[in-house]
Amino acid sequence: MSNFWSPRVRELTPYVPGEQPRIERLIKLNTNENPYPPSPKVIAAIAAENDERLRLYPDPQSLRLTQALAAYHGVAADEVFVGNGSDEVLAHAFHAFFQQDKPILMPAISYSFYKVYCRLFGIEADLQPLDAAMRVDPAGYKSPCGGVVIANPNAPTGIALSLAEIEEVLQAQPERVVLIDEAYVDFGAESAVKLVARYPNLLVVQTFSKSRALAGLRVGAAFGQRHLMEGLERVKDSFNSYPLGRLSVAGAVASLEDEDYFQARRAQLIATRETLAGQLRELGFTVLPSSTNFLFVSHPKRRAFDLAQVLRVRAILVRHFSTLEIENYLRITIGTDEECEQLRSALAEILAH
Ligand SMILES: *Cc1c(COP(=O)(O)O)cnc(C)c1O
Repeated sequence: MSNFWSPRVRELTPYVPGEQPRIERLIKLNTNENPYPPSPKVIAAIAAENDERLRLYPDPQSLRLTQALAAYHGVAADEVFVGNGSDEVLAHAFHAFFQQDKPILMPAISYSFYKVYCRLFGIEADLQPLDAAMRVDPAGYKSPCGGVVIANPNAPTGIALSLAEIEEVLQAQPERVVLIDEAYVDFGAESAVKLVARYPNLLVVQTFSKSRALAGLRVGAAFGQRHLMEGLERVKDSFNSYPLGRLSVAGAVASLEDEDYFQARRAQLIATRETLAGQLRELGFTVLPSSTNFLFVSHPKRRAFDLAQVLRVRAILVRHFSTLEIENYLRITIGTDEECEQLRSALAEILAH
């Protein structure tokens, strides 16, 4: 019955998210969710908002949230744009800025949704290889192009560029938008938001899904100078004027207000990550340096695919990608200390056989 589909839809290759199976006592280290709950103040703020006002449309600009984000990051409120998850913000950005006469530049190994947006919007991508250390090489992003997309830290490798390296790319592309996707920035990289005032071509995208433990709320944001925000608003108001419901806005604002909780959880996850990285190295794994809430690892003696299968039988889920260059790697989300210990002991047993 696919003859009902628009021709463009027949050509799509949709994104495949990590699985969300219903297995009991599952240790779920496959989709980079936060193992800790959001702040209790977030839950309370959503509950307080949950009343008869739900009959009304929410504020189309989500002004309470854009103002809170602006104050938090030290930019003007009209330099902030919010959407229904950063995936939606990214989609609007591809639509708004990258339908140009030249292909966009992005890493060959990165967040796989970027390629999906390219298909959806008819954008060509010129994929730049990672270097031998699996780092994004800034030199690959300086030639004439339709725009640049870099996840920093990159996913699924977990490695971050420095702000100086990001600036090299911004300076080489004064005519094109350089999009920096900072989904994992809170786990150890430096945010480019502080460069917004200096670079009219910089668009920074962030999410509440990972470091703020709000994947279920669907809140993402972009930061950039006014002319870029206007481009995003034009697309948004041609698609869905009310991307964020009032419950989402209330929860996201409360998250920004509970800085102590945010810092404590973030520090805990970083500490757990470093412990697990050391333990996996002791088990013989190669562990890439991570600035994220996941580790990207491979074992010289065991196929990553097989390890993922055997872990799955033990109700531990990790992510394996079949992409050729990274098919011998596993991406392991940092869980609680207890979850990571169960992973470690399962791997120790598996490798002993
Ligand atoms: C998780 C992730 C996103 C999407 O986040 P949402 O805000 O939940 O849509 C975007 N980019 C990267 C690199 C991610 O890992």
